[in-house]
Amino acid sequence: MAVIGGAVAGSEVARILAERGALAIVFEQNARPYGKIEDGLPRWHVEQRREEYAKIDRRLSHPNVLYVPLTRLGRDLQFPELVNDWGLSAVVLANGAWRDRPLPVDGAEQWINRGVVYQNPFIYWFNHYLEPDYAGPQYEILPGTLVVGGGLASIDVVKVLQLEATLRALARRGIEEDLLRLEREGIEPVLKSHNLTWQQLDVKPCKLFYRRTVLDMPLADIPPNADAKKVEAIRRAKIKILEKAQRKYLFDFQELSLPVGLIIENEQFAGLRIARTQVSEGKVKVVPGSETEERAPLVISSIGSIPEPIPGIPQQGEVYKYIDEKLGLLSDGPTAVFATGNVLTGKGNIKDSLDSAVETGTYIVERYLGLEPGGFGVGEAERAVVAQFGERQAALISARRPLSAQRVSAIIARVHQRWKAVGYDGDYARWIARVSHNALS
Ligand SMILES: Cc1cc2nc3c(=O)[nH]c(=O)nc-3n(C[C@H](O)[C@H](O)[C@H](O)COP(=O)(O)OP(=O)(O)OC[C@H]3O[C@@H](n4cnc5c(N)ncnc54)[C@H](O)[C@@H]3O)c2cc1C
Repeated sequence: MAVIGGAVAGSEVARILAERGALAIVFEQNARPYGKIEDGLPRWHVEQRREEYAKIDRRLSHPNVLYVPLTRLGRDLQFPELVNDWGLSAVVLANGAWRDRPLPVDGAEQWINRGVVYQNPFIYWFNHYLEPDYAGPQYEILPGTLVVGGGLASIDVVKVLQLEATLRALARRGIEEDLLRLEREGIEPVLKSHNLTWQQLDVKPCKLFYRRTVLDMPLADIPPNADAKKVEAIRRAKIKILEKAQRKYLFDFQELSLPVGLIIENEQFAGLRIARTQVSEGKVKVVPGSETEERAPLVISSIGSIPEPIPGIPQQGEVYKYIDEKLGLLSDGPTAVFATGNVLTGKGNIKDSLDSAVETGTYIVERYLGLEPGGFGVGEAERAVVAQFGERQAALISARRPLSAQRVSAIIARVHQRWKAVGYDGDYARWIARVSHNALS
């Protein structure tokens, strides 16, 4: 079978299939297979990244896994060809959720990277821009940037902005500080160690807007069976999380606020028009006549990630179209097509790993956000869900008639052809060492 994407989900499903004796061909668009762990989690999660990389490496090193790097479905390999011509038993899509949900403000798309920036490429830049051979888009750190969001990823974005702005302000004073220390200890204690205050730095903080109330922020899950007392406790815990994050990283926050327009002046992005909102019966309503202007050099939109459309894969709204969502089954036939991981859930979120206990849940979120010491098992929840799906999918796939030896040889010949084209010799460890020499981690 083929697996598209080699990260947390792809490597896990490949392992499950490989351990059942199947041959799993993992097509990965990048040279390295680490996905959101490398490009979506801010790089201060040093330990979690290292641990998760090692686990992915271990799974992809299984002798029944054939790793095919630098091969993007939809570009180097077409979906209809893979499903109709390769003669595979199944294809499992584990390509994640990499497209930012579009900012729903008139004209926003025309200002992309000219004042309007999306979270996914911004965090990608932050994680990679110090690498000597980084050649991707460059983003500026502009004090007073606005962020639209409300989930964990948007708090990551405000942290990047605040930490980078502080590092740059210190550098202008001839002080070189360490990002990891600043993230761990918080901005004020580090400034104090240099006999400075935030006011003295004179950096306009960035500001996070959320369309609902802080109590609605998706920072901790409310279990379906929670009683009123528990619901209230979780909601209160969210306020505390946000307050702690603001104290540590000094960003501004405004709830019940929705961007409704762009301010464009002299052909330049100059800010957002923000309306106040009311939440009633779970719905967000704009308060008529409440619009104000928020002037800023930049807005970063962090309102969710969805799977990228791939030619040939039918879509239903933001996600792929399933014939059985519980199984993650997109289509049946000689080659069945499944999906797993973020591509299936349409999100990659800490919520999924939350226990129903308030303390555990908020503790994990606080550790993720750097508000409490200690690490957290990034990827663990994802892997558990993927393993569950994977076992079910693998059982279905195993029930199919095994392919003939001749067919398998033909498939392997195609893999070897692609290996040749991308310069991969089949030695996973050697390849990873070769393509990692420039990586920060
Ligand atoms: C803010 C934030 C918080 C998080 N919190 C948690 C948490 O609490 N718990 C947790 O378990 N995880 C968390 N994560 C991690 C995470 O998002 C997922 O759990 C996990 O890493 C997603 O794995 P995935 O394999 O589904 O997707 P990805 O990591 O996105 O992997 C997809 C892979 O497919 C490749 N790919 C994409 N398109 C193609 C294509 N067309 N052809 C070939 N290859 C392709 C990509 O390069 C990538 O390697 C968090 C992430 C973020 C950003």
